[in-house]
Amino acid sequence: MSLSYAESLSYFPHKGKVGMPELSEKSDDLKIKLEKLEQMIRQSRHTVAITGAGISTDAGIPDFRGPNGVWTLEKRGEKPSFNTSFDKALPTFTHRALCKLEENNYLHFVISQNIDGLHHRSGLPLGKLAELHGNVFAEECEVCRAQVIHPKSVGSYCRKRTGNVCNSLKSRNKSLSCRGKLRDTILDWEDPLPELALNMSEQHCAKADLCICLGTSLQIRPCRDLPRKTRKNGGKIVIINLQKTSLDSLADLIIHERCDHVMKYILGKLNLNFDEKPSVFNVSKYSHIKKIILLSGKSKCGRNFIGKNLAERLSASLLHINDSLKHEYEKIQTKDSCDTDKKNMIKWAEEKCREDPTIFCRMMIERYDELYSLNPIWIISDIKSYAEIEFFKNHFNDHVLIVRIEASNDVREKRGWNSHADIDNPELESQLDKNVRWSFVFSNNEQDKFNEQMNDLVKLIN
Ligand SMILES: [Zn+2]
Repeated sequence: MSLSYAESLSYFPHKGKVGMPELSEKSDDLKIKLEKLEQMIRQSRHTVAITGAGISTDAGIPDFRGPNGVWTLEKRGEKPSFNTSFDKALPTFTHRALCKLEENNYLHFVISQNIDGLHHRSGLPLGKLAELHGNVFAEECEVCRAQVIHPKSVGSYCRKRTGNVCNSLKSRNKSLSCRGKLRDTILDWEDPLPELALNMSEQHCAKADLCICLGTSLQIRPCRDLPRKTRKNGGKIVIINLQKTSLDSLADLIIHERCDHVMKYILGKLNLNFDEKPSVFNVSKYSHIKKIILLSGKSKCGRNFIGKNLAERLSASLLHINDSLKHEYEKIQTKDSCDTDKKNMIKWAEEKCREDPTIFCRMMIERYDELYSLNPIWIISDIKSYAEIEFFKNHFNDHVLIVRIEASNDVREKRGWNSHADIDNPELESQLDKNVRWSFVFSNNEQDKFNEQMNDLVKLIN
């Protein structure tokens, strides 16, 4: 939770000005300012964006110093009433707009003080992004500095060890993985900033001819100093923020307006829209993959447990198709109806799959791209249809092993499966039975020898 984040940081005495009034533009002034911004973006050859908490408040994550910010309320002895979890927060229009500007070469680097991971979740490549205060979804290796981005937040703050180890391959000996200890990436107030991210930020700001600051009151170093580097280079500074900032006297253009509103105008003027067409799967990006293990089996057959166990033993990446399905479903829910019932979601997913049977496989891979790009072994859980198996066989032919996990109805019932809430699809099941030659069948019943079967499966994969 974002609030527990604010609470978990050690006491910070330098809160700066909190709760300053929000300003607005007269509509004529706003029009002139927006036109000016469009011209500046078109003319700039190297543009950098600096973002703060103000661009994420629409995602339900409170800021620190705004009228309803964590520290503004704290001064009055109150707590924020809205507070979504990081896992459920979705990128705002501004996040997606920045991503679109980057794709179309209008924006070249983003520096963020936010830890909510929403820039990366909106599709901005990690190489174009410096997250100066960390990312709740990331772990970093103490030894090789490799970052792992998870689909769920790590749940620890202040650069503590998470108990996980690094699976990146060693640069000297590619057959060994690093095994360094992983830490969360969230800085406490006194921690030094991550060197690489800071260096990159300074370099981009120094060569930029346009620096746009969005949703930040620029009160914390080094963010308040970075735009000065652009100014030194003869570049311009734009500030889009509802409150006054510490750099107002230096800025070439100040717009007191919501970031989403400004971005909607700019994207419209640049003819960039948000068509979410399914992208084409590009297999050449995955040439490093040596093994793909597909796990299929009815609900409550122990698929997740076996998948996790296997991933640990093989240092493999574990991907769940159902996670991607849930993620896509949550996107179309309104903020208040996130926990809708499972049956609706399954119905929706079945309809989606009728149009495109491999849609969630592709989305899963695209979404976790950065995270798994280095690992040569992937375990894919939640395989439900023959089309999904065909998809992997078509793209990764010889590298695919198909594992069926079985458990008797008695055992499944004991594990919480009951026929009323059954989410298995008999039609798809019979399709699988007819068409698939399983590489391995794991009979996950209590009387069977779990370890023995596990060893056999690992042997088969190796
Ligand atoms: Zn490492």
